[in-house]
Amino acid sequence: MQRLEDLLKKAQELKITITKEILNHFEEYKYEREKMIELFVSRGIKDQRVILAMLFVPRHIFVPRNIQHLAYEDKPLPIGFGQTISQPYIIALMTENLELKGEERVLEVGTGSGYHTAILSLLSKEVVTIEFISSLSDSAKEKISLLGLNNVSFVVGDGSCGVEFLAPYDRICVSAASPSVPEPLIHQLKDNGIMLIPIGDEEEQILSKIIKVENGKGYEKQEICPCKFVKLKGKYGFG
Ligand code: SAM
Repeated sequence: MQRLEDLLKKAQELKITITKEILNHFEEYKYEREKMIELFVSRGIKDQRVILAMLFVPRHIFVPRNIQHLAYEDKPLPIGFGQTISQPYIIALMTENLELKGEERVLEVGTGSGYHTAILSLLSKEVVTIEFISSLSDSAKEKISLLGLNNVSFVVGDGSCGVEFLAPYDRICVSAASPSVPEPLIHQLKDNGIMLIPIGDEEEQILSKIIKVENGKGYEKQEICPCKFVKLKGKYGFG
């Protein structure tokens, strides 16, 4: 691990503000977090901003206390209500493909534990995150606030319809499996904006990168890799 002073200098150069509250957790599970990052790099993650954010955000505080020791293993973990915190490598891959430079407004559909929200918060200007289950949203909000992150708005509701009253967005990240690209999300994405979304059936999906075409309603779609997410509920999801 590089020295903390060097990492903080690098963060500043990459326009990532590490709060003192995040720093308070830095020594906890430091070795495990470093191993997790080494795994991402060996699997092809290159974006230095994503790597640095994930080196700092304490994933263990987002999982139930009795499984905190598993937080840095590369797998999804239960967070209650039949939901999961996503596999860290998939979070890294989705975030890298969002191509965040720090000036974007991001919509996250499926707040879950709030872990990915924290990473998006460090890497963009503003995050709007919507979750179906109010208890999960409340718990995520508490943790994001504990980490001193203040550019996140929390909404409870059906994220398959997006969050119209705060649109448009430069980026949209959907963290649940959808049968297709929800129409309202395309409308709420700016021209040339990017959306990451797992598309498929309830058993298996393809992580897809959607790029909205300028001056139109159309979009280009790139397929990134097979994946397995919990299902997106709601009007434009699986119902
Ligand atoms: N990325 C999250 C994290 O870091 O913990 C994990 C997200 S989890 C895989 C998917 C989340 O999407 C669940 O919390 C689920 O309740 C939520 N969800 C499913 N359908 C939704 C919908 N229509 N609107 C909002 N949230 C939804």
